Amino acid sequence: MDILKVLMERSGSECELCSAADELLTYDVQPNDAPSSDHCVLVCKVCLNHIDNPSTIDADHFQPLGTNMWSEIGAVKVMAYRIFKFIGPSSWAVSQLDQLYLDDQEKAWAEAGLTTGEEETKDSNGTPLKPGDSVTLIKDLVVKGAGFKAKRGTMVKNISLTDNPKHIEGRVNGTRIVLVAAYLKKS
Ligand SMILES: [Zn+2]
Repeated sequence: MDILKVLMERSGSECELCSAADELLTYDVQPNDAPSSDHCVLVCKVCLNHIDNPSTIDADHFQPLGTNMWSEIGAVKVMAYRIFKFIGPSSWAVSQLDQLYLDDQEKAWAEAGLTTGEEETKDSNGTPLKPGDSVTLIKDLVVKGAGFKAKRGTMVKNISLTDNPKHIEGRVNGTRIVLVAAYLKKS
């Protein structure tokens, strides 16, 4: 069956984000492995415009999302998560985000779509860091809670990235710790 038709039935012909009834379109929530209604959300043109231009997102437009986020549909919850993140730290969106329930898979899906150029993890020279890279400390770091100092010049192999683009994780002296990317240089 046509995805748009499925979404229209699922939503009662309303934007699944803001509940508007005009100019409804299928929005394919990336990344996903196959086009299906489970990966799509019915959105209005206004919502689509905001989603495509998150830097100018209008928080007021998404007030109804506080109700619509209680959807059973993973794709809707994923979009709610991203939109609340875009609306950002100093508004009601934060408390909505706290209440929004996503399982691990949905959370990973939601996060995967948030990666933009400016959220890239970069070392002290602005070189992008990737999982598995090796880095060198450019200053002595006191490792909180671990009781040792990681010396400048220490190499950390096979790093992993974290939720925070400013941090990476790696093993120093056999202990897995979080390191500030700005104090590292890619080897
Ligand atoms: Zn809408």
